[in-house]
Amino acid sequence: MSEGPEARARALRETLERYGHAYYVLDAPLVPDAEYDRLFRELEALEQAHPELASEDSPTRRVGGAPAPYLAEVRHAVPMLSIRTETDTTAEGARNFDTRVRNALGMGEAAPPVVYAAELKFDGLAINLRYEQGRLVRAATRGDGQTGEDVTHNIRTIRQVPLRLQGIDAPVLEVRGEIYMRRDDFERLNEVQRAAGAKTFVNPRNAAAGAVRQLDPAIAATRPLSFFAYGLGEILGWDLPATHSETLDALAAAGLPVCRHRVTGAGPEPLIAFHDEVEAMRDSLPYDIDGVVYKVDAYRVQQELGFVTREPRWAVAHKYPAQEEMTELLDIDVQVGRTGALTPVARLRPVFVGGVTVTNATLHNQDEIDRKDVRIGDWVVVRRAGDVIPEVVGPVLERRTTELPRFDLLARFPVCPICGSQVHRAEDEAVARCSGGLVCAAQRKQALLHFASRRAMDIEGLGEKLVDQLVDGGVVKTPVDLYRLGVLALANLERMADKSASNLLAAIERSRETTLARFIYALGIRNVGETTARDLAASFGSLDALLAATPEQLQQVPDVGPVVANCVAEFFAEPHNVEVVEQLRAVGLRWVEGEPRRADGPLLGKTFVLTGTLPEMSREEAKALIEAAGGRVTGSVSKKTDYVVAGDEAGSKLDKANALGVAVLDKDGLLALLGAEG
Ligand code: NAD
Repeated sequence: MSEGPEARARALRETLERYGHAYYVLDAPLVPDAEYDRLFRELEALEQAHPELASEDSPTRRVGGAPAPYLAEVRHAVPMLSIRTETDTTAEGARNFDTRVRNALGMGEAAPPVVYAAELKFDGLAINLRYEQGRLVRAATRGDGQTGEDVTHNIRTIRQVPLRLQGIDAPVLEVRGEIYMRRDDFERLNEVQRAAGAKTFVNPRNAAAGAVRQLDPAIAATRPLSFFAYGLGEILGWDLPATHSETLDALAAAGLPVCRHRVTGAGPEPLIAFHDEVEAMRDSLPYDIDGVVYKVDAYRVQQELGFVTREPRWAVAHKYPAQEEMTELLDIDVQVGRTGALTPVARLRPVFVGGVTVTNATLHNQDEIDRKDVRIGDWVVVRRAGDVIPEVVGPVLERRTTELPRFDLLARFPVCPICGSQVHRAEDEAVARCSGGLVCAAQRKQALLHFASRRAMDIEGLGEKLVDQLVDGGVVKTPVDLYRLGVLALANLERMADKSASNLLAAIERSRETTLARFIYALGIRNVGETTARDLAASFGSLDALLAATPEQLQQVPDVGPVVANCVAEFFAEPHNVEVVEQLRAVGLRWVEGEPRRADGPLLGKTFVLTGTLPEMSREEAKALIEAAGGRVTGSVSKKTDYVVAGDEAGSKLDKANALGVAVLDKDGLLALLGAEG
């Protein structure tokens, strides 16, 4: 480095100050912790090597950040400190700590081993819960260690935090612990945010910190927070046990959540074993941890050891590899899913994160890329926690020194990278999709299963396992290939007995005779379900007419709105799809008249909802009868519903029908209505 130590120290302080403010006060970190920690350690080393550079206001001397001005301040009766971090992540970390403790206590070689407690280092935020006479009276954040923020209103919304302690009515008992968010709760919260088009949270710690420091407890209450107790603050009139581990037992007995993953042991060996064990289970824990904490167990010994500026001498944090790191975003690729959805995937400069080397991470969709403003060429934060797929959390804007173009998925991938079909994105959808449903290799299995399903072409015996074999073996690419299958091709498949092969061929043969409606449904056009397929078949009458239909004509069909019309038009605009449709026609599919909707049926124009179990009539049968008579069956009751047919155990739909004054029929009533057909 060209700059002198003094200039470097100043630069580091300025940077750490800025990062600390963003992290502690704004809950919006600018860089991952690993980067902050690297700079922090560099500054520590500089200050050690050049004591003249040390300064009282250095970030290495202080805890946390200033309390937010919008929350009331709380002066801590006992300061809330930080914990020294052991940088050696190997077993040496525990031995170094033990050596430091023994030296500080002036213990010789022959002195007995020190007893330690080991627990998890939860990655959340510290909280001080003040109980007076066993009742929760105040909850405060750590703040700068001396003065925290009053967040009682939010903490009261957390169910795991008892408002009353069991069996403790001491005048004052301050319990310290960590507020955190479970990983599954965090993922769900982000799903909700994503669905609402809102900004997602970068990690569980941040989501938890933001929730705790909300002004509005109603918002905090909607954020799923959890809590673990791990220590004490001020105590008055409580019988303090002799050791830390006994205190945790007592807190658990009083109804406070205490993590069960903890041990006590003599000397460094049990600590090393604990460190290894926890590392092995880290991914399967339901919450993030960034290390383990070792504490001298006996309070008497803790007192003897005392504190240095910002941390006790009797505790140390022994860390694991970071779950968030930063690296360069080299490119953005896409993955095509089974349903044709294009998911943007970040190609990264390999980076070690969460214990593995990561080269790809998901970016979810275009909206998410826009919201996070991630651009190719950026430095990005990558998170890999638990066994979830690695994710790009956001760009490190600090590092964006040149103007970079925004990423536009549709411009970059106008056609599907797998099959070359057009890619479309509906106006109200976050996801872009490949329109080559019938030809795309990524969608092949899904498309075939749908094509063969009972309500589509009804090819009995063509299930998931068989489709897997046919596709993976390269035997079938599109539904057309089904009609070209021979006994030979099937005989080569594993576990395919002669009999099942001929049964399958017979089922395929039978399916050549179908209805236009079933065929349209079988194509798997997005948003075209059975009912729509039937409406399309009835309105256009022939495949050619449907193929030629404009979106405007499509919208003339009852119940077909602009979204469905677009899906149909896009599907038939894709030459690959039309090719397959033509080939299917060429292999000799025949439309038979069947299940037509009677244009003169007695139930023409009437809408029905079925609910509950009808005596000796399946729902399918009832539906078929109604439709054969010209009626429609829909799923939910509204003012537009003409009849609700209710059987046994009819539930909320019947209640709704009654509330709306919709006519309710039983099975006989339905039959009578049908019988009116004269
Ligand atoms: P720390 O968070 O590493 O350790 C102290 C904290 O550990 C306590 O306040 C407590 O909340 C927590 N803890 C969890 N489990 C515990 C247990 N079993 N017993 C006792 N305490 C337990 O240290 P710190 O100085 O408070 O904060 C530094 C951390 O904040 C670092 O991880 C740093 O990377 C991060 N940070 C990041 C940025 C950034 O820009 N990304 C900025 C500032 C700080």
